[in-house]
Amino acid sequence: MNILVTGGCGFIGTNFIRLMRKHHPDWSIINLDLLTYAGNRTNLLDLEQAPETAQGGNYIFAQGDIRDPRYVSELLTAHHIQAVVNFAAESHVDRSINDPSPFVTTNVQGTQNLLECSRKFGVQRFVQVSTDEVYGSLGPEGAFTEMTPLAPNSPYSASKAGADLMVRAYVETYGLDAVITRCSNNYGPYQFPEKLIPLMFTKARNQEPLPIYGDGSNVRDWIYVDDHCRGVELALLKGRTGQAYNFGGQAERSNLELVKTLLDQLECPHSLIHFVKDRPGHDQRYAMDFSLAEKELGFTPQMTFEQGLQRTLNWYRDHSHWLEQVQSGAYRSFMDQWYGER
Ligand code: NAD
Repeated sequence: MNILVTGGCGFIGTNFIRLMRKHHPDWSIINLDLLTYAGNRTNLLDLEQAPETAQGGNYIFAQGDIRDPRYVSELLTAHHIQAVVNFAAESHVDRSINDPSPFVTTNVQGTQNLLECSRKFGVQRFVQVSTDEVYGSLGPEGAFTEMTPLAPNSPYSASKAGADLMVRAYVETYGLDAVITRCSNNYGPYQFPEKLIPLMFTKARNQEPLPIYGDGSNVRDWIYVDDHCRGVELALLKGRTGQAYNFGGQAERSNLELVKTLLDQLECPHSLIHFVKDRPGHDQRYAMDFSLAEKELGFTPQMTFEQGLQRTLNWYRDHSHWLEQVQSGAYRSFMDQWYGER
């Protein structure tokens, strides 16, 4: 199969491409990425250096924008693309509060452009990688199902919900063969250090205060990135046209619980925890009912939270050069400004 993966130089895209090379060494994978602050081409440098596999597979990096109709059309036709998996997005909630515009252009307009080009050039399968955040927030009980109404609360989640609805429209209006995956919070190697776990790792390693929003009671479900990638793979290969599938890690933790576990695993004191002013519109709790994906796709998460966290922290410990490299001046100034105001 010839597959276009967008956003493959980001956190989940990188892990997805690595897993697909293992599971399907005969696939040709074209990675379209704009290389924003969150994209790191060197994540997959080893694949660029040895792109061809013994089984006839290939890896090609293409720098470009999912919003660019000419470039996307060119890639789809030149590489005879059969499937598109769209990871490319502006993905950080705090940044969306600071400035929502790139979230609308990349997440909504960019997805629409990919759908339109896919329709025009006969792509056989389209997978839109979405998030549990499109469902809004939960009280202490219950879990989101695929039937839960969309009720996004941040500019980020609103833009992802907009993209999901655009996918639905392309299925209903043009008969495009598309599916949507909605997943809870991912963690694992290659995650950009503005996200909770690598941020807390970096702070703890430097013996700096660990900032936690509000009282730390907000609950998230955590999934190891490879489990999510397996879910996307299953949706790509077996998903029902037009269907959305929830994926979760069966690991609900409050932010405070999570940070305490992380400090324990790093043998750092809890006194490093520092509560900061809450984020506006901060959702209280997300939880995923993924029984549909279990039943229709055979999905189950394989990694427990404690195992996955240990593996992730070990990876960051062994890849300190990676962390230093991605913490550029632009990254540092956003983080200093954001937390400095809190
Ligand atoms: P990320 O921010 O690490 O990576 C995003 C990638 O997209 C980067 O490589 C960036 O360069 C690229 N990109 C951004 N704008 C682009 C554009 N206009 N054209 C081409 N490339 C562009 O994000 P991530 O955490 O890997 O998330 C990937 C996807 O999964 C996103 O769609 C996100 O909404 C979704 N998701 C993430 C999580 C999570 O916990 N991280 C959970 C559920 C769903």
